[in-house]
Formats: sequence, structure tokens, C-alpha cells
Amino acid sequence: MGKLVLLGGGYGNMRVMLRLLPNNLPLDTEIVLVDRAPFHSLKTEFYALAAGTSTDKEIRVSFPEHERLTAVYGEAVEINRAEKVVILEDGQRIEYDDLVIGLGCEDKYHGVPGAEEYTYSIQTMAKSRATFQALCGLPAGSTVGIVGAGLSGIELASELRESRADLKVKLFDRGSRILKDFPEKLSKYVKDWFTKHNVDVIANSNITKVEPGKIFNHEEEIPLDAVVWTAGVQPVKLVREMDVEKDRQGRPIVTQYFNVLDDEHVYVVGDCASSDFSPSAQLAEEQAEHIVKVLRMRWKGEHLPEKMPDIKLKGFMGSLGKKQGFAYLADTTVTGRIARLMKSGLLWMYKYQND
Ligand SMILES: Cc1cc2nc3c(=O)[nH]c(=O)nc-3n(C[C@H](O)[C@H](O)[C@H](O)COP(=O)(O)OP(=O)(O)OC[C@H]3O[C@@H](n4cnc5c(N)ncnc54)[C@H](O)[C@@H]3O)c2cc1C
Repeated sequence: MGKLVLLGGGYGNMRVMLRLLPNNLPLDTEIVLVDRAPFHSLKTEFYALAAGTSTDKEIRVSFPEHERLTAVYGEAVEINRAEKVVILEDGQRIEYDDLVIGLGCEDKYHGVPGAEEYTYSIQTMAKSRATFQALCGLPAGSTVGIVGAGLSGIELASELRESRADLKVKLFDRGSRILKDFPEKLSKYVKDWFTKHNVDVIANSNITKVEPGKIFNHEEEIPLDAVVWTAGVQPVKLVREMDVEKDRQGRPIVTQYFNVLDDEHVYVVGDCASSDFSPSAQLAEEQAEHIVKVLRMRWKGEHLPEKMPDIKLKGFMGSLGKKQGFAYLADTTVTGRIARLMKSGLLWMYKYQND
């Protein structure tokens, strides 16, 4: 029996299972899913877990069940391509015929001293829980710094504002205006929300050092009771250490069929894979659609198209607390309650489709 191993049950590999399991998996093939967690984690909602506005259970989805799917829960520590095996921390060896690596990403600290040691994170469920404990346990009137005003930083700052009205929240933005790569209308809407809700957005920031109880923006020392880092990501260490050709960010370079350059049985999906697009759940799912097509053709011995279709993304959506939001879809900016409802609707649909 052929064995497809899915390493990581994130957005990318969930989509692979969603497409293959109903009736697209050849009868002589089985799937083994490996994840450290016994459920699919809705990473796009980790900001709400950290802010204390969503419970743990609300942001989990069960993995699918199927007679030819085996789930193995454990920490993967090595991918040995020569022996075609994935090795887990407890010594288990999981052999594969085809492998899809979808292990996601972790924080990147850009060499800022103290950042890794003294900041909280929302990159894994366990870290988001620890961030929740820290933020929601702060005494009244404390000050929280959030470093990085991308989508996750914005969502965390606004959600925390709604969760703890007594806290002072400072959002450090490297850019001259928030979401500076998007239309000014969108930036203005988000900035106005922060002004109205008393979140201090500090533009043109450059955090140079973090120490217990303080950070340094350029040379200025700023006292803070807790700091959350949302200022960059990189693939997980296991993937960064793989013996394959990688891009400057440590992500394996993949062909248009999403396999690594020298091995057509090892695919990479999602945040781990080199791409011209910014990492997103949407991108991971689109890449997974392509991988499923390629796998099915290769299993049937068919010729692959000379040119795979381009990946097309729809845009993005973000929340500002539970009532307001923003979206940039098909070059159109949507703001306010409608954008928030759209985002909630998408989450509901995702859970409905997958759980
Ligand atoms: C706060 C926040 C908000 C976001 N909002 C959006 C949004 O609105 N829209 C959007 O499109 N994207 C958003 N993103 C980005 C999105 O979450 C990621 O791009 C997406 O999760 C990537 O999917 P993936 O399949 O690559 O990996 P992930 O979904 O990260 O899954 C990786 C899986 O691998 C497992 N794993 C990792 N290492 C190991 C190991 N060593 N052993 C075993 N298992 C392991 C993890 O448990 C996890 O299940 C957001 C991210 C954050 C942090």
C-alpha cells in the first residue's frame, strides 16, 4: 500500500485531506497525518485566544476520520529524505512514499537582543495560551507593547483593547503609516479606530533591544509590563535545517508542482514553502489544491501540465475587535461592520466545512 505522509495538520494539509479523503484517494494508498496536537488549530484566531476573547475550544477543529487515515500525535524532529522517513521525538519512524510538509512558521526576531527571551508570542497555540495568561493576569492600568503592526499585531491590539479596557496598549509599527502597502483609505480607517479606542500607534519604530520590563525604540527606553512580538516569521527550525535548496528566508524552494527541487516525492505547503506571496492560510489552501492535483496525476501515471495555473488569491480580511473590521478584496476596500461580518462568516464556513 502506498503511503502519503502529511507532516503538520495546518491549513495546507487540512485542505489536502478535505480534497483527497472523500473519494479521490486511490484504493491502494493510505494517509498518515502527523501533528503535535490532536486537533487542527485555527491559527488565524490565535490573537483572540491571547486576548482572552475566544476560548481554546472555539479555535480547534477535529481532524477528519477515515478508514485509510491514521493520525499520529507527536513532535517531528527530523526528515530523512535518504531513507524516506520522518522521525518523531519519541523515536517513532514514519516511512513515506510521498510527503507533504506543512509545519507552518515561528517568530523571527531579526537578531534583536532580548526579543526571544522577553517577549510573548502568538505563533503556536501553547504560546498563545501563555500570552493569554500573561496579558489577562496583568494588574489594572498596566501597559502592553505589541511589536509589529501587520495583520496579527493589529488584530491582537484591537482585541486586547476590547478585552481589557483598563490596559494601555502601544502598537509599534515599522512603517510610516499602518498597513502602508494598502490604500490610504484602509490605513486611515484602522488608524482612526485605534485613535478612537485609545491605542497608541507608534509609527517609524525600530525596536533595537528588549529587556525585562522595557524595550528600546531606536534609542528611546520605553517601560512596558508585557511585550508581544508580531514582527516577522520564518519557517519552523526543522524545515530551516532541511538539506534542500532554500530561499533567503530559509524556506525550501519548490517547483511549480510544489515539490522540492531535487525530489518529486517531497512537497512543501503553506508558510514553510518559498513563495512570492506573503504567507497566509488562504495561500496554504491554494497551494494544497495544486498539490492534490499533482499527486493524483502522478499516482495515475499521467503527464503533468507544462505550466501549472497561477495561484490566485482573493485578498485579505482583518478584525478590529468583535464588531468592526476591514477587508481588501479584488482591489476594493471594505470597512466597518460588514467587513467584520464577512470575516466571522468565513470562519463559520471554515469550521462547518472542516469539523
Ligand atoms: C494572529 C494571526 C492571524 C492571522 N490571520 C490570518 C488571516 O486572517 N488570513 C490568512 O489567510 N492568514 C492569517 N494568518 C496566517 C495563517 O495563520 C498562516 O499563514 C497559516 O496558518 C499557514 O498554514 P500552514 O498550513 O502553513 O501551517 P499552520 O496552519 O501553521 O499549521 C502547522 C501545523 O504543524 C504543526 N507542527 C508544527 N511543527 C510541528 C512539529 N515539529 N511536529 C509536529 N507538528 C508540528 C502545528 O501543530 C500545526 O498544526 C494569521 C496568523 C496569525 C498568527
